Amino acid sequence: MRTSIATVSLSGSLTEKLTAASRAGFDGVEIFENDLLASPLSPREIRARCADLGLSVDLYQPMRDIEAVPDDEFARNLRRARHKFELMRELGADTVLVCSSVSPLAIDDDDLAAEQLFQLSALAQDFGIRVAYEALAWGRHVSTYDHAWRIVEAAGHPALGTCLDSFHILSRGSDPKGIEDIPGAKIFFLQLADAPLLAMDVLQWSRHYRCFPGQGGFDVAGLVGHVLRTGYDGPLSLEVFNDVFRQAEAGPTAVDAHRSLLVLQEALGVGELPAPVVPTGVAFAELVTPDAEPVSALLGALGFARTARHRSKPVDLWEQGEARILVNTGPAARRDGTGLAAIGLESPDPRAAARRAEALLAPVLPRRRAPEDAPLDAVAAPDGTELFFCATGRDPELPDWRADFADVPHEPGSAAARIDHLALVQPWHQYDEAALFHRSVLGLHAQESVDVADPYGLLRSRAVTNADGSVRIALGVGAAPADDTLHAQHIALAVEDVVAAARAFRAAGGGLLPIPANYHDDLAARYEFADGELETYRDLGILYDRDAGGVFRHCYTRTVGRVFFELVERDPGYRGYGAQNAPVRLAAQHAGRPAR
Ligand code: MG
Ligand code: MG
Repeated sequence: MRTSIATVSLSGSLTEKLTAASRAGFDGVEIFENDLLASPLSPREIRARCADLGLSVDLYQPMRDIEAVPDDEFARNLRRARHKFELMRELGADTVLVCSSVSPLAIDDDDLAAEQLFQLSALAQDFGIRVAYEALAWGRHVSTYDHAWRIVEAAGHPALGTCLDSFHILSRGSDPKGIEDIPGAKIFFLQLADAPLLAMDVLQWSRHYRCFPGQGGFDVAGLVGHVLRTGYDGPLSLEVFNDVFRQAEAGPTAVDAHRSLLVLQEALGVGELPAPVVPTGVAFAELVTPDAEPVSALLGALGFARTARHRSKPVDLWEQGEARILVNTGPAARRDGTGLAAIGLESPDPRAAARRAEALLAPVLPRRRAPEDAPLDAVAAPDGTELFFCATGRDPELPDWRADFADVPHEPGSAAARIDHLALVQPWHQYDEAALFHRSVLGLHAQESVDVADPYGLLRSRAVTNADGSVRIALGVGAAPADDTLHAQHIALAVEDVVAAARAFRAAGGGLLPIPANYHDDLAARYEFADGELETYRDLGILYDRDAGGVFRHCYTRTVGRVFFELVERDPGYRGYGAQNAPVRLAAQHAGRPAR
C-alpha cells in the first residue's frame, strides 16, 4: 500500500522533514499548515521539492472550526477556505482535512453542519479539491467517527468524505467495527497513530503521547483491517504528535515510522516482508576496549579462558562453557572507550535473517572484513550495536565465525556458564524505536516496560526475548536526555551456583559491587532463609528476588568503562531480571563512582 506521513510527525524545517520522509521510503506527505507557514519556500516551490523527492502531497491540514456556525461566521469561514483552496492548488494538494469544530460558536445541529459542509465542498470542487471531515476526540459536538460519517452522508456531496484517525477512534474506546458500514469510496483519508494506554485528558494524550503503530497499546492493525474491508484504497498515513519525536533527529524518526508501517502491513497480510528468522541463542558478545588489561583481568576472575585470537585483527576470544566474549582492541575502542559493541546471535538462517533486517530498513554493515574471514551478515541496531547473524559450528554449509580465530594455549575455563541476558543502553529518544526494531527485525517478543528509580533519574527498561529465553536482551533508557544511564549496559552470565561463582570470582581478585546492609535487613523481613544463607548474601552482595515461577539470585561486578557483568542463578520458571532490586544496584553503583 502507499505510505504517507504528516510533516508534524518529524522535527526540523519543512525541507528537512520532506528529505527525511523521502529517504525513509515514504510515497507521500501530509503538509501541516504551520510547517508551510514557517517555510521560506512558496507553495509552488514546496510542490517542486516534493516532486524532486518523489513525494506526493496527499493532504493539506488542518482546516478548523468551519461548520455548524451562524451564517455571518460561516461566510467568513468560506472566505478563509477560498484562500486555502487557492494555496492548495499551488501546492498540488487535492484533499483537505477539516476537523470537527471545537469553537464555542458551534451549534449542536447536525443538519446545519451538513448544510455548511455541503457548501464548503461545492466550493472545494470548483478547485478540484476534496474535503475529508474528521471527528476530533474532543470536538465540541462531533467527537466520534460514526457521528462524523452520519453528517457526511446527510450532506451527500461528491467532494465530501470522511477522514478516519485511529487515535481519535481508539482513544475514546469506540468500536472500530462500525467502520465497515462506511463505503470505502467515502473514506477519503486514513491517519494512523498508536499511543500508550494512559488515563489522562484526551487532548493532552493526543498532542504529546501519540506514537507509531506497534509502539503503544492500541490495536491499530485491527482498525486498519476494518478500513481495508470497506475497499479503501488511499494511503496509510502516520499523524503522530510526540514530544520526543519533535526533538529527535528527523532521519532516524522517519525510518522508525516507515518500519512501523511495514510491520503493520505484514500483520494485515498485505506486506512483502521476508518471514522473521528468530535467533536461537547468543553466539557471542563483543566488548571493545582501548586497554585489554582491566577487561582481561575481569574475564579471568570470572572464570573465562582466553582460547583464541583472530587471525588478522586485534580481537581475542574468551570462553567459559557456552559463554563467549570477544575483546576487540581495534580502532573503534580508541574512539568510544570500553563498552559492549556487538552481539552475535545464533540464527537458523543467517542470510535470511539479514534480508529481513534489510527489508525493515536496518543499516546493513559491510560483511566482515578481511578477505579470508568468514562472511558474516550483520546489521546495526538503532543504538549502533552491531548484530551479527551466526551459525556457530552447526552446519558445515554455513560459515563458522570461529574459523577466523586461531587457538592459543590455555587452561580450561573454571566453570560452566552461558549468557543469560544482555542489557543495552538506548539513546533517550529511541526507547520505543528499539523495542519495535528488536521485535520486528529479530522476531523477539517484547515484555512489559518497567520503571526503575535511579538516584538521579528514572530508568525505563523493557526486555525482548525468544520463546525459550535463550535470547534475552534488556533495553534500558533514562527518562531525561541528561541522565547518566551508563551503568545499565551489562552482560549477565547464568551460573549454576551464584554463591560459588561469586566466591570464586572474589578469590581470583575480582571486585564485587557492595550492597548496603539495609537491603539485606529488608530481605530478612520479607522472606525466610536457611541458617547462614542471608549472611552469605550480605557478604557477597547477592540480591534476591522471587516470582510465581521461582527464585532469582544475582550479584554484580565493578564497572569497567561503560560495562559490568552480572552473575545470575535463575530457577527455570523465573521470568524476570530482578527489576525490583535495580534501584538498590543503581544506588550502589553511583555510590562507588568518583564524585561528580
Ligand atoms: Mg488526525
Ligand atoms: Mg541484569
